[in-house]
Amino acid sequence: MSRTLIVGGGIAGLTAAWDLAGADRAVTLVESADRLGGAVGVHHLAGLAVDAGAEAFATRSTAVPRLVEELGLQSAIVEPRPDGAWLRLPDVAAPMPPTGILGIPADPHGEEVVRLIGAEAAALAAQDLTADVAAWRGREGVTLGEVVRDRMGEAVLERLVTPIVSGVHSARADDLDLETAAPGLFAAMLREGSLARAVAAVKAQAPAGSAVQSLHGGLNTLIAAFAEQLPRRGARGVDVRLGRRVDSLPVLLTELAEEDAGPVTDVVLAVDAPTAARLAGGLVELPDAGEHDGDDGRTGGRQADGDDGRDAPRAGRGVALVSMVLDAPELDGRPRGTGMLVAPSTPGVAAKAMTHASAKWEWLDAACGPGRHLVRLSYGRVTDVPGSGVLGFASSDEELLAAAAVDVGALFDRSIAAEQILDADVVRWQKALPRSAAGQAGQIERLRAGLREAPADPAAGLPRLHAAGSWFAGTGLARVVPDARAVAGEILAT
Ligand SMILES: Cc1cc2nc3c(=O)[nH]c(=O)nc-3n(C[C@H](O)[C@H](O)[C@H](O)COP(=O)(O)OP(=O)(O)OC[C@H]3O[C@@H](n4cnc5c(N)ncnc54)[C@H](O)[C@@H]3O)c2cc1C
Repeated sequence: MSRTLIVGGGIAGLTAAWDLAGADRAVTLVESADRLGGAVGVHHLAGLAVDAGAEAFATRSTAVPRLVEELGLQSAIVEPRPDGAWLRLPDVAAPMPPTGILGIPADPHGEEVVRLIGAEAAALAAQDLTADVAAWRGREGVTLGEVVRDRMGEAVLERLVTPIVSGVHSARADDLDLETAAPGLFAAMLREGSLARAVAAVKAQAPAGSAVQSLHGGLNTLIAAFAEQLPRRGARGVDVRLGRRVDSLPVLLTELAEEDAGPVTDVVLAVDAPTAARLAGGLVELPDAGEHDGDDGRTGGRQADGDDGRDAPRAGRGVALVSMVLDAPELDGRPRGTGMLVAPSTPGVAAKAMTHASAKWEWLDAACGPGRHLVRLSYGRVTDVPGSGVLGFASSDEELLAAAAVDVGALFDRSIAAEQILDADVVRWQKALPRSAAGQAGQIERLRAGLREAPADPAAGLPRLHAAGSWFAGTGLARVVPDARAVAGEILAT
């Protein structure tokens, strides 16, 4: 009886395990943390269990809703309140233009656009509607930054796009491959003859309703469902082993062979790419994945997704999140919608984004109780220079908590006293954030191909190797889930 070994119990590993066990394959899943879920984490504040990492999934594909349904959670699917988020710029705070993609407006003349960038810059951006796109034809690998700058000008890039790209995607617009960041947008621009019309066209193709959904109780309830159901999934159930960090595949494979539970024919490395390369390198020879680098220093505190990330390909700089429960009835009116994205160099605010989580999700509002609110502030931009004293991933809990206490008042434009903060917690993420720099995509593709083509002889104890997860599929559940299912499909086909 053959079995599959899955290393990593994030959403990728869990999804692959779900499909393999569902087809009655024997599966052993090994996770270093003492809980499943990886970047779909949970923490507890003021008696509430709330998402500590990912909090929603994109609805542009049906992949995640389908999985949610298979786990029996379809009735728990919720949509955010439609309020939308705000932008905080150095000189103005206003709601974000409602019809944009990554901050690129579909209507450069729109009222919200003019309010945020001014009439002159809006008129410049509107030249996109008539300027020829011919110079872009035949171009490949273009970045979000260069296209926006050329078509709509620096103000749209700096004031509308950068806060979103840096706050939500932890990336720099000039580093982000446009096709990866907004699939189909570049082709639509060439077709429509305008970036704004391309945004409108791509938006029109999106399914009706909210762009994201989540689950009543938080996305972490999906992980709880996996944890409960996987051990009895299919004829064999998944053998889940928590608290076991894999440092050497040969050592683990030898251990498993001694258990007499059947030879491991396939290994799914559902971990970050540096770890996947290191683990696979202990078993087979791989093409060189790149150079070492050590600019990810941090001091103290708790990191939710493991340490280091110094091998290549590299992790992004990492983010630190501060969640707080506030006793603040003055926020009942949701004065900043579902939250705020903050432009770099905004005086008096160190955070790059704030989610007013209890304004965004009705169930959470009810769970918090009257007058109480849950907010989450994030720190650490890709543009920060390590060691420059800017608050981020490497800052201590004390520094982050003190900054968040000030920032929350500045962002809501209301004074929030220290005694109104009923509870607070800091979580750090690094490995869950692949570096988006140009060139990394090629490195990752080479690594995945190297794993696929590595010599394998399952009968002689050398299993086939597979990679899954956000480093290989792209960030976000909507990318990770279908990719992990495809990997499971490949294994089932052999
Ligand atoms: C703060 C934050 C917010 C996000 N928000 C959203 C969102 O709202 N919507 C969305 O779609 N996406 C969001 N994302 C992205 C999304 O969470 C990730 O793309 C996705 O969860 C990655 O899943 P994964 O299984 O590939 O990796 P991970 O979740 O990172 O899982 C990898 C697992 O492997 C384990 N592991 C690593 N090394 C070893 C080892 N040597 N031995 C054993 N186990 C090991 C880790 O402990 C971890 O559990 C967010 C990410 C972060 C960090």
